[in-house]
Amino acid sequence: MNKQSESGAGKLEKTPEKRLQAVQARVAQACQEAGRPAAAVTLLAISKTNPAEIIRPYLRAGQRHFGENRVQEAQQKWPDLKAEFPDCTLHLVGPLQSNKAAQAVALFDVIHTLDRPSLADALARLRDNGAELPKLLVQVNSGAEPQKSGVLPDDVPSFLDTCQADRGLAVAGLMCLPPVDAAPGPHFALLGKLAEAHNLPLLSMGMSGDFETAVQLGATHIRVGTDIFGPRG
Ligand SMILES: *Cc1c(COP(=O)(O)O)cnc(C)c1O
Repeated sequence: MNKQSESGAGKLEKTPEKRLQAVQARVAQACQEAGRPAAAVTLLAISKTNPAEIIRPYLRAGQRHFGENRVQEAQQKWPDLKAEFPDCTLHLVGPLQSNKAAQAVALFDVIHTLDRPSLADALARLRDNGAELPKLLVQVNSGAEPQKSGVLPDDVPSFLDTCQADRGLAVAGLMCLPPVDAAPGPHFALLGKLAEAHNLPLLSMGMSGDFETAVQLGATHIRVGTDIFGPRG
């Protein structure tokens, strides 16, 4: 079984349905090898940079969870797609500026990138003003990379306290994006340990190149772009 990312030449000859089915089969296989039920893992199709007409065939093929990394880009395509497919679930997987929090809360069903107290404040204010908040995951900068957003692993306990005890926010899980040149396994294992220590059920980890490893280490949400949509331009 080839566990490498299948992105690259030749891939786009397949139809969207075929590419989706190929990824679904790999997810099912990874679940089986991990001894986990297939329903334990939600496949997010990361549709960033792709326009609505590219996304629509995947919705028609039954894919229901999608991820975007920019609020403004998502606002341009998802209100119409959500109207067409009301049962789809939209996830924000990119950094969120506090001044875009209201727009994000109105559009997204899940935010994977709660990463600092000022954003927790902005979300709590929106809640206090009557907004229904999306499901929230805290992004962890598992590799302590200076350019990457996310809470440092050592700061996770105090940040969760800030969110939950101080602001009354319900945190459902943790998300990470390991350094590109590192083996992902130790990062996924660390995220799993942190989630377990804090009783957080959701683990958002694993992309095209490493989602089998993430499933093995307990991912509940895998975020796959390239292997579903093809290479981004
Ligand atoms: C783009 C992106 C992905 C998908 O990456 P692929 O390698 O294309 O599967 C996953 N997570 C985040 C946060 C992303 O920005």
